[in-house]
Amino acid sequence: MIQRLIPAFLRDELKGRELMHFLRHMDTCEECKEELTIQYLSSEGISRLEEGKTFDLDRELMEYMVRAENGIKRRRNLILGFFAFEVTAILIILIVYIYALA
Ligand SMILES: [Zn+2]
Repeated sequence: MIQRLIPAFLRDELKGRELMHFLRHMDTCEECKEELTIQYLSSEGISRLEEGKTFDLDRELMEYMVRAENGIKRRRNLILGFFAFEVTAILIILIVYIYALA
């Protein structure tokens, strides 16, 4: 049940695979997204109202989700970059080896 992860998401406690799964589900499931919006509004909105600030929570929630998603992409790029580096290193070693034999 994805909806029970919402409080953890809002506390920024979801990581890695769980966070990715959560965001992917939110992309496709209107019901859960609505629940997320409601919980976000009620947790953020109340404290904002107490501070007497104006806000656009709908947009902020969107930005929050985008930030979470970008965090995942950055980590994935790091892993891909490391993999590319390894492949290059292996190729160089192979080439040097072949030349050494010739
Ligand atoms: Zn759902």
